[in-house]
Amino acid sequence: MQIADRIQQIAASQSLAMAAKAREMKAAGIDVISMSLGEPDFETPAHIRHAAQEAVENGFSHYGAVAGLASLRAAVARKQNSLIGNRIAWEAEDVMVSVGAKMAIYNAIQTAINPGDEVIIPMPSWVSYSEMVKLAGGKVVAVQTNMEEDYCMTAQQLRAALTDKTRMLILCSPNNPTGSVYNREKLTELMNVLRDFPEVYILSDEIYASLAYDISPLSLAAFDVLSERLILINGVSKAYAMTGYRIGWLMTKNRPFLNACIRLQGQQLTCATMVAQKAAETALNGPQNCVEQMRRVFEQRRDLICRLAADIPGWKFNKSQGAFYLFPDVSAIGDGDAVTQMLLEKAHVAVVPGSAFGSPACIRLSYAISTEQIEEAMRRIKNVFM
Ligand code: PLP
Repeated sequence: MQIADRIQQIAASQSLAMAAKAREMKAAGIDVISMSLGEPDFETPAHIRHAAQEAVENGFSHYGAVAGLASLRAAVARKQNSLIGNRIAWEAEDVMVSVGAKMAIYNAIQTAINPGDEVIIPMPSWVSYSEMVKLAGGKVVAVQTNMEEDYCMTAQQLRAALTDKTRMLILCSPNNPTGSVYNREKLTELMNVLRDFPEVYILSDEIYASLAYDISPLSLAAFDVLSERLILINGVSKAYAMTGYRIGWLMTKNRPFLNACIRLQGQQLTCATMVAQKAAETALNGPQNCVEQMRRVFEQRRDLICRLAADIPGWKFNKSQGAFYLFPDVSAIGDGDAVTQMLLEKAHVAVVPGSAFGSPACIRLSYAISTEQIEEAMRRIKNVFM
């Protein structure tokens, strides 16, 4: 039977595939350490779990408003307004809640992009942006960043990539897979270029905003120049260890655009899961020390993995400044695909090849695992390369 052409052209998610492979090996009794998946290993904080249980008991079992619970949309706006550097006055009506940030991004791309439109994506990048752009019929304009620039796109690179067909720029800071964070100076230079291109939407994926270590990440809501072109993406998955709840959102001051997104979502999924929305509301309105506690643990793990990785012959990497990934260039040893395979077979450590993110010279290691697992995984990896 037929599989539609547009689905045939998209790649399967390699990070999910590697995680599945690691699970299979574990089920077969092999002691595999998985550094492949992008999710916090912590349990969702107790007060948030209880809010979900209460929501079940309190009848949140019916359809809700397409754009999300009014009280959650208000909590999202309040949270964004409280961020240091935010210069846009957000209201509940600027928010659409969706099933994870992933669905919000998909929806924004579907709503903004016509066939043939160009979308600039700095590479390496999260696996799904390119596939989502392709699904909308758009053309990915990949801008290759490099380690010397800490994998941040420069203003010159952005200017060179912009054409009269460009309709969107996708930025992700802190970044998956590189762990890089754009500082204010770098962002200001990019924003200055964008002044000359008013038809370009800027989709700013800030899902890792609460997980930064040496530098405070700046929301693009700090830049007035973007006004109605800005689409902010965030969610509760990474900050509150709530990946399975599947709650994320998009925010924009562009009301016609937001209404179009809501129209699409109405035909697509009716609304995000109501019980999970209540839990997300509690996450945003409740005590925030759980976020800081998890961030500190990730910072210690980041320090540990960087120290251990420095001892591995042939690896070159920048110190990760955010999210929970290390992205070494392993080209001195082999290409990223071959090294990934070698690590799985010889060290029983699952990582993701850099080719999945547009950087075949690299591999991605997630340090969202325990200190003991990091130490053991890095010991095994070192043994393979010594
Ligand atoms: N954006 C980036 C950069 C991610 O790494 C991820 C998840 O891995 C997402 C978005 C999706 O997050 P969510 O779990 O909210 O769908």
